[in-house]
Amino acid sequence: MDDFRNYAGQSVHIGRLHSEFMEGVFTHAYLFAGPVGTGKKSVARLCAMTAMCRGEQKPCGVCGPCRRILAGTHPDLHVLAPAAGKREISVGQMREMLKEADVHTFEDGVKVFLIPEAEKMNAAAQNTLLKTLEEPAPNTVFLLTVVHLSALLPTVVSRCRLIRFHPLNDEETMSRLRALGVPEDQVKIRAQIAEGCVGQALAVEEKVITLRNEIADQFFSVRSLADIPDVVNRYKDSRDERQLILDLFEEIVREAVLAQAGRQEPVTLPQTARNYAGQVPLEGGLALREQILEARKMLQSNVAFQSVLETVLIKISEEYTRWPW
Ligand SMILES: [Zn+2]
Repeated sequence: MDDFRNYAGQSVHIGRLHSEFMEGVFTHAYLFAGPVGTGKKSVARLCAMTAMCRGEQKPCGVCGPCRRILAGTHPDLHVLAPAAGKREISVGQMREMLKEADVHTFEDGVKVFLIPEAEKMNAAAQNTLLKTLEEPAPNTVFLLTVVHLSALLPTVVSRCRLIRFHPLNDEETMSRLRALGVPEDQVKIRAQIAEGCVGQALAVEEKVITLRNEIADQFFSVRSLADIPDVVNRYKDSRDERQLILDLFEEIVREAVLAQAGRQEPVTLPQTARNYAGQVPLEGGLALREQILEARKMLQSNVAFQSVLETVLIKISEEYTRWPW
């Protein structure tokens, strides 16, 4: 089962958070703020479980309340999200939920109100919430998570205990992925792609990993201008994946550059990309990275993807020509 310890690297406050909920001395509202995929929602769920758990080691994950929370069926856990098809959390929804705050609990314990994407509350909904936060009912706790604090009214932020979440470094991401049961051969590559966001690393699909390897292999097999058309033809019609292809290639080059700089072994790169990193020195890798930034701009200005790809591949062949050994 998930555990507060898995998030200890996130913030020095995680341990204290756990004890507050274990001892039932939590404050009335917490706000977890930080990038996508850093564990904010998981920690919020652990807080809710700990508050309601009837086991010895809270949260035990096996008692009735814990299981109902994991199944999303606990009557005292209220989750507020935009209605189907809507982008915002409306004031009507907020009022509906807050009515529950005045009603007794079903299981004689704590009521938890979870707002996992707090930035979706419109201003009216936030103002309504604010009134409740100013006069909190006993035995209720609000757990809000947000990516950008600026999306919330300062008065709402100041009424909550703020805990900031940070992207993890590669080592931390990898150990989190291992703890979550990701197979060892995928741990490193997923950590690289997600750049510190475990949620994102878990969401990386198999086909993206396959595409990444294929791109690295194809792009770095371009040794001269004559090799370019084959590779371009292969990708020029990937309409929906143009951005992804550039993102993945940029991330591949990032790893190649770290290898060129002698900072890291290129363990997740296929052989052609390793050959490139071994043959072309750091300055070539940096020039290639510049070219990818340029390619992004071209794509934004609606330059045909074929031409965008060509500029990147020409740069690769130029670097190989410049550094023939
Ligand atoms: Zn439990």
